[in-house]
Amino acid sequence: MTTQTDTTGTGAASAAAVCVSMLDPADTCDRCGARAYVLAVFGRGAELTFCGHHARAYRAGLAATALAVYDETGWLPRQDQP
Ligand SMILES: [Zn+2]
Repeated sequence: MTTQTDTTGTGAASAAAVCVSMLDPADTCDRCGARAYVLAVFGRGAELTFCGHHARAYRAGLAATALAVYDETGWLPRQDQP
């Protein structure tokens, strides 16, 4: 019963919510402790957070098992992309 739909953002106020982050700077990767940029939500309210490195490492598994994946790695400066 945690699913909520925000219906207050319709209209002129919606633009203000574009940059809302699902992750806090204090959130850390559950694998290595680095700052988390990906939040994976599973059933029963379970959540895992990953840094960009581990999000890429587990991307296939997350896509197959998580109910939702919030990927905020797009906010990272590009550094080690091939
Ligand atoms: Zn990590």
